Amino acid sequence: MSELSDVIELQVPLQVMQEGYEFMRTAGRMRLEGMVLWAGRQEDRTFRVTELIIPRQRGLSTPDGLCAIVDGTELRRLNIHLYQSELELVAQIHSHPDRAYHSSTDDRHAIATTIGSFSIVVPNFAMVNYALAECAVYRLDEYGSWLEVDESLPPNKIVVI
Ligand SMILES: [Zn+2]
Repeated sequence: MSELSDVIELQVPLQVMQEGYEFMRTAGRMRLEGMVLWAGRQEDRTFRVTELIIPRQRGLSTPDGLCAIVDGTELRRLNIHLYQSELELVAQIHSHPDRAYHSSTDDRHAIATTIGSFSIVVPNFAMVNYALAECAVYRLDEYGSWLEVDESLPPNKIVVI
């Protein structure tokens, strides 16, 4: 019982959630998507988020739309930070200019790549602190596909504490 895929409840402090929204909102004022990460520790089947990570990123405008890119150097830095802090990455959260859904670009450029990771897409450049029910929540399944899930219920429940 130590795999991320065993987690049936993700607990995230309100402050972590709101600080992430603030970053995404700031990026949105420049008409760019923003990406933040949640890290913490798993205890049995519950995962407790303890840290918001805002990776160095650049916003791109492509023919497919907008995209927040985190380069390899930054990803290595993040992995060392996680390892040294004994934290695990559990979720990536990013904003969209309008509708919240996991695009094929999002599938290809996911930073959270462990089976059982969550990916949350926030609509409208996170203009307000949307409830999770207004976001699109996905989880990486055992075949490596991001499936949309209902975050109000186990085994994909997310509780804001
Ligand atoms: Zn996206």
